[in-house]
Amino acid sequence: MITGKTKLLGVIGYPVGHSLSPVMHNAAIAHLALDYVYLPLPIEPQNLEVAIAGLAAVDVVGFSVTIPHKQAIIPLLSEITPLAQAIGAVNTVSRKNNQWEGTNTDIVGFIHPLQTTYKQDWSQKIAVILGNGGAARAVVAGCHQLGFAEIHVVGRNLEKLKDFQQSWEDSPIGDTLQVHTWDKLTQLIPQADLLVNTTPIGMYPNVDDSPVSVDEMTNLQLGAIAYDLIYIPQPTKFLQYAQQQGAIAIDGLEMLVQQGVAALKIWLQQDNIPVDVMRQALRQHLGLENRC
Ligand code: NAP
Repeated sequence: MITGKTKLLGVIGYPVGHSLSPVMHNAAIAHLALDYVYLPLPIEPQNLEVAIAGLAAVDVVGFSVTIPHKQAIIPLLSEITPLAQAIGAVNTVSRKNNQWEGTNTDIVGFIHPLQTTYKQDWSQKIAVILGNGGAARAVVAGCHQLGFAEIHVVGRNLEKLKDFQQSWEDSPIGDTLQVHTWDKLTQLIPQADLLVNTTPIGMYPNVDDSPVSVDEMTNLQLGAIAYDLIYIPQPTKFLQYAQQQGAIAIDGLEMLVQQGVAALKIWLQQDNIPVDVMRQALRQHLGLENRC
């Protein structure tokens, strides 16, 4: 029930109608019986500055940030965490001492399955990351945080790849990072202990596409981990091909859930976040509730 005292959370983006965040956050809020509500807030890029001032004026507690505002929001914040600074993108904003503070919880979301279910010593391992967009930045930072010996990023545009590499130049991440054009993929796949798809290739409705062909995938090591950031369909063709080679498959749903859990911990200032409720709400919303 919305009351006169209901506290406001939300997600800013444009468009924002596709966002799954309201589903999982409102499920958590209802489970915890808190007087909060999490709203979709469509904000066109030219209105970002005035909208952020408005959110402060109506005492919003915090908000998620999605495309196209993840970088544009940075100059409008009083502080950003070193993690968000390193990634160059903010996905979570909270109000602290009457100021906006930004962070990035995608990295926490990405590494969660690798730190829990598939925990191991990564210091001798090689990560190969497909794509060099926004999500790839969180994945690179996450692989560095886990201690990977080598991080290889594969992209289709040489100029963008060079910019990507250059952006990490002053960071320790740059020491372990190498970038490659797509034609080097065949050589990189046999080396990969972790192969991550951060491109949208294979995402619904293009469910028959894969960034790695079935032939290329035959060179993946037995026991390697294939991680697709896409969560619809489940599994993607990329994960199906990898599983056929005896690889471990991780889809993007847990990353989505865990970045949301990390954001709620910040906004609510409490650690007991009902992660199962959030995961279940998403699975139900996506029509996955009867599948394991
Ligand atoms: P983005 O910034 O647009 O980056 C997409 C990357 O994929 C770019 O490097 C792009 O290359 C590359 N790409 C796109 N189409 C390609 C193609 N046909 N062939 C080769 N490369 C291609 O998007 P993003 O925000 O990083 O998101 C990427 C994916 O991750 C989306 O599917 C998104 O849903 C998913 N994601 C999931 C989560 C989660 O919580 N599970 C979180 C964030 C993102 P160019 O730079 O050359 O265009």
